[in-house]
Amino acid sequence: MLIVMKADATDGQIEAVVRVVEELGFRAHPMTGPSRTSIGITGNQGAIDPSRFENLPGVSETIRVTKPYKLVTLDLQPVKTIVRVGDAEIGGDELAIIAGPCAIESRTQAFAIAETVRRSGARFFRGGAFKPRTSPYAFQGLGEEGLKILAEIRDTYGLRIVTEALDEPGVDLVERYADVIQIGARSMQNFTLLRRVGRSRLPVLLKRGLSATLDEWLLAAEYIMSEGNYQVVLCERGIRTFSQHTRNTLDLAAIPAVRRVSHLPVIVDPSHGTGKNFMVTPLARAGVAVGADGLIVEVHDQPNQALSDGAQALTPDQYEQLVAEVRAIHEVTIPAAVS
Ligand code: PEP
Ligand code: MN
Repeated sequence: MLIVMKADATDGQIEAVVRVVEELGFRAHPMTGPSRTSIGITGNQGAIDPSRFENLPGVSETIRVTKPYKLVTLDLQPVKTIVRVGDAEIGGDELAIIAGPCAIESRTQAFAIAETVRRSGARFFRGGAFKPRTSPYAFQGLGEEGLKILAEIRDTYGLRIVTEALDEPGVDLVERYADVIQIGARSMQNFTLLRRVGRSRLPVLLKRGLSATLDEWLLAAEYIMSEGNYQVVLCERGIRTFSQHTRNTLDLAAIPAVRRVSHLPVIVDPSHGTGKNFMVTPLARAGVAVGADGLIVEVHDQPNQALSDGAQALTPDQYEQLVAEVRAIHEVTIPAAVS
């Protein structure tokens, strides 16, 4: 159930409703929008009797939630969530650009790429320190050493750091060095990991699983939010289909589909979504044109030497060109995206 407070409800009235929810043994999730506060309830197995709330001071109405998710929906929060990361944001008016190598390979490599990313005006730097590789013999990332390099990049360039955690001890480490925790496609249904990042103070970038439906993806976001972390960014990164001309099939229809049901920001990953250098820029343009709040793009100063995902990495020049093009598209797309 969802409790909608009156526009003039006081903090005390909101707190009183939260207390009743907790007395019933459930969890209350107050979401304050520009015009009113709504309170989502989780932890209940069956329907809750609305009469417990309807007559409490400040309550406007109670709404039964029939969808499988409660906290990700526009019913709870009709305005878009803006995820704030320091002075940067995802979901606001500015197109968020997250760029960097697939993996942090060395200090020299990471700094060379960060220089390009900074120059482009992007606010976020990506790079894996823990890599989920198909083969156990492939490069697995530098681990904590990679995180230290990322932290140095933040200090040097003021870029916000996005990096993946593969497991719960990895989250402890990522929290120490980074700004946004990435949950990769392969971990999208690692429910204990989702709960762990749900208890983090850092925002979470949640990639869509390789074969996840929209509902499964949104329910993964719901796992995170149900633990109290509402700073979640969804990322469409392509799904597995029978197509052989790309590494994955980038499902750009997911962007308007998410928009219709959820207030969470959603970004596009044209790198993993295609797997091929020459397709990254065209699909990035398309992603922005369908209303994505941002892009996450892999860039490498020497793609043919990359230890992972070299085939999809953009060169610095290609990346700079991409940024110029997608910014121009975003300028003319903003009114459509918010309508
Ligand atoms: C990555 O961002 O490098 C990555 C491994 O992504 P995904 O989880 O989408 O495959
Ligand atoms: Mn990669």
